[in-house]
Amino acid sequence: MVKRYKIGIIKGDGIGPEIIDEAIKVLDALSVTMDLNIEYSEMLLGGSAIDETGVPLPKETIDGVRECDAVLFGAIGGPKWDNLPRELRPESGLLKLREVMGTFANLRPAIVYDELIDASTLKPEVIKGVDIMVVRELTGGIYFGQPREMSGERAFNTMAYTKEEVERIARVAFDIAMKRDRRVCSVDKANVLEVSQFWRDIVTDIAQSEYPEIELTHMYVDNASMQLIRNPKQFDVILTSNIFGDILSDEASMLSGSIGLLPSASIGKGVGLYEPIHGSAPDIAGQGIANPLATISSLSMLLKYALGEDEASLKIDNAIKKALEQGYRTADLSAYGAKEVCSSTEMGNVIASLVSRS
Ligand code: NAD
Repeated sequence: MVKRYKIGIIKGDGIGPEIIDEAIKVLDALSVTMDLNIEYSEMLLGGSAIDETGVPLPKETIDGVRECDAVLFGAIGGPKWDNLPRELRPESGLLKLREVMGTFANLRPAIVYDELIDASTLKPEVIKGVDIMVVRELTGGIYFGQPREMSGERAFNTMAYTKEEVERIARVAFDIAMKRDRRVCSVDKANVLEVSQFWRDIVTDIAQSEYPEIELTHMYVDNASMQLIRNPKQFDVILTSNIFGDILSDEASMLSGSIGLLPSASIGKGVGLYEPIHGSAPDIAGQGIANPLATISSLSMLLKYALGEDEASLKIDNAIKKALEQGYRTADLSAYGAKEVCSSTEMGNVIASLVSRS
């Protein structure tokens, strides 16, 4: 039976359109082999939206995303819009979009591909086989807590979580772990912060009452930042709050050594946003050399987490591994085992052809 999905497409600025076009190519190829009927709905965000409508997040985009099963997003921003007032800048549009979509969980995998092991600054024996998923709480904690204030003599922020906020992010992490190695490490600072003790107690309760199969451990954030570099292979899923996750997910992403490879997902109650972790790379935009693999990998996450199309997702993951094994590299990775340095389009063609044949 043909399955029908509506996928929102936000190409954005800089290399955004180039990398998204390659992901669409891969999804088109998959649709044929997997009997999927995909309707695309293209929407504006960021600089391109400012140029066309005067605002970074047009109402049509807010309304449009709500009608989709999931949204695939490239990247926004660039020097052209950097001098606009803050609320009119591309980045404000993205923050607002995440807010209106209610995406409270940010998923950031850190995967080390064997073929690119030398691209990392860490020793190969430390990172070989690393496959971590960082689940970061995205809409609460100290970045949003009230009161917050800065005056001439004093400044402060508030780190606060409600029971409901901790429960829902814990469930996201446990659900993901159930599809992986069933191990969750919850990272906090419970030795110093009440809010972290509260977090720890609730996470423990949810694990015991709802996920008895999960092996739950707890770690203080200072130790976790050290352990990620010392022995990253000990982690499967890392569950943590907004600020700790912000820092740890960037640290984890550098294990893999390349910004052009890593995907992310922001999910919540409704439609999720799937995007590469990198920005719009204005320095290489329009040259056809951007690495589309992070975006294609984001598509794989979309298929798995938004549509439940695990087989299609696996086909993409395997195709990426195979392309790397066969020595295909975009310019950013040309120093690491390249047999053929390819353009963004050529890399998209290779992945599309591999998924078609799998
Ligand atoms: P960036 O991630 O765009 O680029 C950093 C470096 O990595 C650049 O040298 C770039 O060429 C390279 N790079 C990034 N993606 C690549 C890819 N797919 N293939 C090959 N090389 C790649 O970060 P930046 O330069 O700090 O920011 C540029 C713009 O992107 C800014 O306007 C920033 O605000 C915006 N930005 C947007 C997002 C987003 O849309 N989610 C995220 C971060 C930054």
